[in-house]
Amino acid sequence: MRIVSSSPQAPDDVVIDVPAGDAVGAVERARVAQREWATTGPATRAAALDAVADAVAGSDLADLIVREVGKPVTEARGEVARAVAILRYYAQQAYDPIGDTYPGGLSFTVRRPRGVAGLITPWNFPLAIPVWKAAPALAFGNAAVVKPSPDATACALRLAELADGHLPDGLFAVVPGGPEEGTALVDTADVVSFTGSGAVGKLVAVAAAERGIPAQCEMGGLSASIILPDADLDRAAADIAYAAMGYAGQKCTATKRVIVVGADATDAIWESVKALRVGDPADPTTAIGPVITAAARRRVVDAGGTAIERDGWYVQPTLVGPGTRLDGEEVFGPICTVTTVADVDAAIDLANATDYGLVTALYTGDLAAALSYVERCASGQVKVNMPTAGVDFHLPFGGERGSGYGGKEQGKAAAAFYTLSRTVQLSR
Ligand code: NAD
Repeated sequence: MRIVSSSPQAPDDVVIDVPAGDAVGAVERARVAQREWATTGPATRAAALDAVADAVAGSDLADLIVREVGKPVTEARGEVARAVAILRYYAQQAYDPIGDTYPGGLSFTVRRPRGVAGLITPWNFPLAIPVWKAAPALAFGNAAVVKPSPDATACALRLAELADGHLPDGLFAVVPGGPEEGTALVDTADVVSFTGSGAVGKLVAVAAAERGIPAQCEMGGLSASIILPDADLDRAAADIAYAAMGYAGQKCTATKRVIVVGADATDAIWESVKALRVGDPADPTTAIGPVITAAARRRVVDAGGTAIERDGWYVQPTLVGPGTRLDGEEVFGPICTVTTVADVDAAIDLANATDYGLVTALYTGDLAAALSYVERCASGQVKVNMPTAGVDFHLPFGGERGSGYGGKEQGKAAAAFYTLSRTVQLSR
């Protein structure tokens, strides 16, 4: 099978056309390389990750991200900078303690690598997501095999080229492919980290459970931003407009539902949306480029969006009222629901009333009250006076219910996932 990826703003521009890779072979080679890597000390691992960071920093990856997935160039540059920072951050974590000591003779725990990490990634963060999984896996002594989304194959292969020579042969590999290669990776790796849709995430979680290997599945979102009556409305509207429409609404953390207490904020949000430029993602003034494929555009149009007649998969940013399928279904595009409710209890109940639980944002001037509302929000992240969209790599990240399974990733959470803990007791 061939893996073909085309530019969403210029669909005739074929970015890459390569044969699907051999996931089983990549895992076998990675397993050999990992045995040696597991015996290296932190200085070796840190130096290797820093060298990959240098290579990524000096690369053309921002332009390739723009071309392959239509991400606006300012965000693409930010993604490259973030990937570099993540590599350097986990380079340093290679020096962190790997266990604890306990009273009673000599009792201690020691963490060791799991083996080969199978990493299955989506197209929307074609560099940051492979890196935020691979960097901790490698730092803690594992090998990493990435199966990227077909629509982001060129970016992932470029990352592998940049890493080449800085890591032992076979330790880090990218396998182009689709469901078949993804399945093969889940069937052979020692630990699996997946990011993508809920439907595929469930398949991955079940397959990993059958093999008895740990899996972490970060899935979709339907994140709500709640505007309370004492909020700074202009600031909230500007934040929410970008969180809902920036990069054409194609972030798992995008605001998909705005819930306003006691007033209609549609006009204020719409004014902010209108200020966001739709256009060529290579233009630094563009905030909203195309959606990823023709099929993605069809889904947005079916949900109430309007296609823009120009080359590329562009859709007009759209705000809709409640009572549509967008209330319960993630549609990856520049489309968002605005609902007015009577009070804060109704707002939180509505925010929590979906199968997803990724991020909730609260806009309010009363921080003391906000702290009590935070406890009631059923999502893995809660942000006060901050947009839902955006992930800080030094913080644990992950969703609840249909948005996340198997524990958080990033920050210091990654160490527990990519290592096994052994308890050792010594007696005289
Ligand atoms: P997707 O589920 O279609 O694909 C994700 C990956 O899984 C791809 O590499 C794909 O080839 C692979 N895959 C497909 N079928 C498979 C199978 N049967 N077994 C193993 N692997 C298989 O998702 P997508 O369209 O690439 O990405 C968009 C989705 O990702 C959205 O739902 C978005 O919310 C979600 N996402 C979540 C997060 C998060 O951290 N929660 C971050 C970014 C994107």
